[in-house]
Amino acid sequence: MSTLKFTDSDHWARIEQHLAEATGERFAFALTNTIDNGAEGPVLEVVDVVLIDDRDTERGPNSWYLADRALDRVHNQAVAAGNGLVEFHNHHLGPPVFSHIDEAALTPMIDYVLDLLHGTPYGAAVWVEGAVRAEWWRPDGNGGVQRGQFRTVTVIGERLRVINASAVTDERFSRQLPLLGAEAQAAIATMRVAIVGAGGTGSHALVNLAYLGFRDVLILDDDLVETSNLNRLVTADHADIDSPKVVVARRRMRAIDPAVRVRVLPGLTVTGDHPELRDVDLIIGCIDHDGPRHRLNQIAADTRTPYVDIATGVDDTHEPVALGGRVVFVLPGGPCLTCLDELDSAEVARWAKPSDQQTLDRLHGYGTGAPNPSVVHLNGLAVNAALAEVVAWLSGTRRPAQWLDIDLLGNSAQPGVQIGPREVGKQNVGCIDCGTIHRISHDE
Ligand SMILES: [Zn+2]
Ligand SMILES: [Zn+2]
Repeated sequence: MSTLKFTDSDHWARIEQHLAEATGERFAFALTNTIDNGAEGPVLEVVDVVLIDDRDTERGPNSWYLADRALDRVHNQAVAAGNGLVEFHNHHLGPPVFSHIDEAALTPMIDYVLDLLHGTPYGAAVWVEGAVRAEWWRPDGNGGVQRGQFRTVTVIGERLRVINASAVTDERFSRQLPLLGAEAQAAIATMRVAIVGAGGTGSHALVNLAYLGFRDVLILDDDLVETSNLNRLVTADHADIDSPKVVVARRRMRAIDPAVRVRVLPGLTVTGDHPELRDVDLIIGCIDHDGPRHRLNQIAADTRTPYVDIATGVDDTHEPVALGGRVVFVLPGGPCLTCLDELDSAEVARWAKPSDQQTLDRLHGYGTGAPNPSVVHLNGLAVNAALAEVVAWLSGTRRPAQWLDIDLLGNSAQPGVQIGPREVGKQNVGCIDCGTIHRISHDE
């Protein structure tokens, strides 16, 4: 299981158009950077594409094949740039699977290419009318070759697509399918989503992910249910006091949809690598402290993973009390929370400092001072505003708002609940967390 991500949707658009216009068979290559190469398989980001001209595609007795001169050119380009390769070709009929002829051609080539690419994973994919099957190969460390299927092939752009997702036919989604579309429902069922924080905000997000049909979910949190959580923790009952929040969340999600797979994990730590977050398709942050929020922002930037940050706040020094929040979408190539100056550096520094107080914070939530006021309708509103953007993005209605302001107080001119987008700036290329300057020096 592993991921191939097109973080520039134009790369995929060029490959798909090339293959879709083929009268016979056509070939294209994605050049990749390796984001991760863990036990489950590689996580690759496409950084460039090469389309093979029809003059370099030859018709053999049984099939089409790529001229050696073209193959050599692509291989040399990848080696020179230090990239991996994923080959795409089209079929005209049937489900996208490798034919016997494909297999016979791939087998001898894999050893050669893995050697040439110094062990960087190699991929191959078949495309049939918009449907894709993609597999990967890498050295297994014992002189052999390991082969696997990409868990997801995602395209991150105007629309968030999972182009290797299988159709979903469950009747439970029949009332929402007209709204979301079959492609979005399939993407939802295939994507892996990580929810960081299973408290007031996270519990709403988790329950609604289960309703929407997400079926591969990770939950990260350390907290136990306390009596004072019961005013807003929609996953917990009175009898759940002292149970882990992740466990009650998983139970609730499985009760909603037995098909959902939920992995429960400890919360974020200052120095943790969190390899479990390196192969997910979407991160939703439901934390109320800028320390772990900053760590999550870094992980999302490093792994090129779309990250939705949900924050809520109550200001009871204000009269009447101000309730509000905001939702920020951090996308590859866009500004991160650090670019947007959305993180309190003093709060981040406090979290990073190891102390007895830190241990106490870990056991009893991320908050550092007196418990902040919290109320169920604010959490639910912020989460549902964020999920509305996620669904709009998946269904192709529109790109998500990069920033949503939520204000429950309003003002004398406009009373009541207000949710509205805010214009945000561009990515800061010198940003210490997401900047391209940092990324290049980090890679070297
Ligand atoms: Zn084929
Ligand atoms: Zn940044």
